[in-house]
Amino acid sequence: MLNRIDLRGSSRDPRGLLPRAQLDVSAAVEQIRPVVEAVHQHGFSAIREATQRFDGVELDRLRVPAAAITAAAETLEPDVRAALEVVIQRARKVHADQRRTDVTTQVVDGGTVTERWIPVRRVGLYVPGGLAVYPSTVVMNVVPAQEAGVESLVVASPPQKENGGLPDARVLAACALLGVTEVYAVGGAQAIAMLGYGSDGAGEGDRCEPVDVITGPGNIWVTAAKRMLRGAVGIDAEAGPTEIAILADDSADPRHLAADLISQAEHDPLAASVLVTDSEALAAAVDTELVRQVASTKHAARVQTALAGDQSGVVLVDDLEQGLRVVDAYAAEHLEIQTRDAREWALRVRNAGAIFVGAWSPVSLGDYAAGSNHVLPTGGCARHSSGLSVQSFLRGVHVVEYTEAALRDVAGHVVALANAEDLPAHGDAVRARFPGGER
Ligand code: NAD
Repeated sequence: MLNRIDLRGSSRDPRGLLPRAQLDVSAAVEQIRPVVEAVHQHGFSAIREATQRFDGVELDRLRVPAAAITAAAETLEPDVRAALEVVIQRARKVHADQRRTDVTTQVVDGGTVTERWIPVRRVGLYVPGGLAVYPSTVVMNVVPAQEAGVESLVVASPPQKENGGLPDARVLAACALLGVTEVYAVGGAQAIAMLGYGSDGAGEGDRCEPVDVITGPGNIWVTAAKRMLRGAVGIDAEAGPTEIAILADDSADPRHLAADLISQAEHDPLAASVLVTDSEALAAAVDTELVRQVASTKHAARVQTALAGDQSGVVLVDDLEQGLRVVDAYAAEHLEIQTRDAREWALRVRNAGAIFVGAWSPVSLGDYAAGSNHVLPTGGCARHSSGLSVQSFLRGVHVVEYTEAALRDVAGHVVALANAEDLPAHGDAVRARFPGGER
């Protein structure tokens, strides 16, 4: 069922040889540029037009009424409420530990530099809602922002025809459980543009003020719009169609591996499921399991497309050392290590959005209830970016404070470097404080 890439005996850099979704975000940027620019210029009327076109919903206002958010929580199924409560509590525990403390360094007598961690003031949190709806993503966005101390946070999520043009009821319920009251029924590129530029709405009380940072996963249109707005606002890593890579040896259970590969393929026909193994017998057993399990999975068509796509496959390697080089080159959003001594192998991984160690830590656990964050970098961005965390909502600001004596002491060096860079006015700004000479 999976494509086969045989790297055995190859000493080439595996990067170009690995399966990867051919997502042309640059082309998508050009496609959504008119939508983003229209929202920037015309606000609500452009959002309404795009929503009609892409979501098939007639928007009569941007903002979800408070009563609808409360009602969603009141009608939430008890088992989903209990699950969300546990998930919120675990996520809070992990993210509370990520808080940063200010650090003051005494550089010299009378000279200090403090790194002060300041939360951004207002953030826009995108919660996808196209093929699937994600109340769990509300938690993954909101909890780190709250733990960072963000003062004003808003959620945007696509309107659902089945919910009368409001976002999914469980998404709204998750907002209620987290105390989020500002929610917009807008999805796709138009939502990102609304958050970034702000927008008027249908009337009194119905407008969206611009935010400072936008986070959250989404499809290629959402990713393209985030790329377009980067700079005007802060953007987290690109979190596009999901990916799972599994590094496994013959000690792994093929039933578990197949189930885990299917679990991520279920997100999206563009999702990537990649198995890296040194065992041909395991690869064959996983293939057999995939055929068996896909037949009975609910979203079989979507799963089949994702598994058969160029972005998915089995990579055969000589040994786990080569496997490690392959998974590092791939830099998966989610990486499972299902080998003997899994913890030792996991310690040696350099590139992954999140690492799941051993047979009892499947990606599905991390998607919901491990306490870790599930908004993670995709498309190889894990080589340089991290998943969403408290840090995503903080800025480290250096606060510099020197006394007269401490400045006098270093003034000569400032002047020397200013002259060397042909910026004498920089030196003059120090000299002006010491008319009788720096020493
Ligand atoms: P989405 O909310 O990202 O996209 C839906 C929106 O796309 C709609 O509101 C619509 O306005 C817009 N749209 C649809 N067709 C369009 C078109 N032709 N042109 C322009 N805009 C269009 O929801 P989704 O589609 O379900 O995608 C969610 C993605 O997020 C999936 O790929 C999933 O794998 C991914 N995801 C990633 C993570 C992560 O952390 N990396 C977590 C959860 C979900």
